[in-house]
Amino acid sequence: MKKHNFYAGPSILPEFTKEKVAEAITNFAGTGLSLMEVSHRSKEFVAVMDEAVALVKELLKVPEGYSVLFLQGGASLQFLMAPYNLMNKKAAYTNTGAWATAAIKEAKFLGEVVEVASSKDANFNYIPRGYEIPGDVDYFHFTSNNTIFGTEVLQDPEVSVPMVCDMSSDIFSRVIDVSKYALIYAGAQKNLGPSGATLVIVKNDILGKVERAIPTMLDYRTHIKGESMFNTPATVPVFGCLQTLRWMKTQGGVAGIEKANIAKAELLYGELDRNKMFQPTVPNPADRSRMNITFVMTEAYISFEKEFDAFAESRGMIGLKGHRSVGGFRASTYNALPLESVQALVDVMKEFEAQKA
Ligand SMILES: *Cc1c(COP(=O)(O)O)cnc(C)c1O
Repeated sequence: MKKHNFYAGPSILPEFTKEKVAEAITNFAGTGLSLMEVSHRSKEFVAVMDEAVALVKELLKVPEGYSVLFLQGGASLQFLMAPYNLMNKKAAYTNTGAWATAAIKEAKFLGEVVEVASSKDANFNYIPRGYEIPGDVDYFHFTSNNTIFGTEVLQDPEVSVPMVCDMSSDIFSRVIDVSKYALIYAGAQKNLGPSGATLVIVKNDILGKVERAIPTMLDYRTHIKGESMFNTPATVPVFGCLQTLRWMKTQGGVAGIEKANIAKAELLYGELDRNKMFQPTVPNPADRSRMNITFVMTEAYISFEKEFDAFAESRGMIGLKGHRSVGGFRASTYNALPLESVQALVDVMKEFEAQKA
């Protein structure tokens, strides 16, 4: 039976990525050696890193004056690294979910956090609007896609202070204007590659302005100078990221991928709005994530939840269980998930409705 992979992360990757990684695990770039056993300083691996950086710049139209880095430690280390490098005294954060909360917690180790807006009052089921950012903060931080709660900021905010974004779960899923950002970071394992690599895009001239001393490994300048090879990079994950970047190019780049993502999201939200057994957890269509589509059974059918879970699993649907803080279901519809998988899920929901409602 065909499996449809809706896991939230690590998550589905293109067939192309899997094939190329499998090949390189036994014979990397014609060396006759495994990718796992080749020096990161070899010309073959340096070429991998260089192309990966170049493709990130090309696909996201990264302007001059920015550095692209492949680091380790996940988005979770960036929660600390960002304030370490950018916060002198004070920064503004929006609290739109568990990851934003975690980012705020780390920033508080280094200074004052002004929580300018929060959607905690409604279990993070909306994106706050109309808040003000104090002019005296060092930067404004937000999470563009709230992986657990299924909300997404679909337009680059306009602010008058340097802007920092955790884009772990929606980077490369839609066109963004990098020039609006001082810093973007993302764990690779949602839309880019295997876990173990962390993508950072940083504007060079925002660095070097804080008063504190920055430990070597936490200083972005160390990794800019070392071209992501100050210490041993995650060679296998970075190679995987490169393959996905190459694949994205063949899909019409980020604009082409965005179009496909819109079609997938419309298909599933359309069914959730129509099917009387299900409803999305995010009421405002403008706030609904295209990457993590969270839904529950409607009041009248709430007792069918376990049954639907088993039914969907029997039809090859994998990873649909919602995060424990939301309940219900979550279909992650990352770049590599084909429209056919969303259609298969919609068919299963229709079939269940026809049987039970
Ligand atoms: C998955 C995720 C994280 C955590 O990433 P790690 O790489 O595991 O540290 C942080 N933020 C968002 C938005 C995520 O989706």
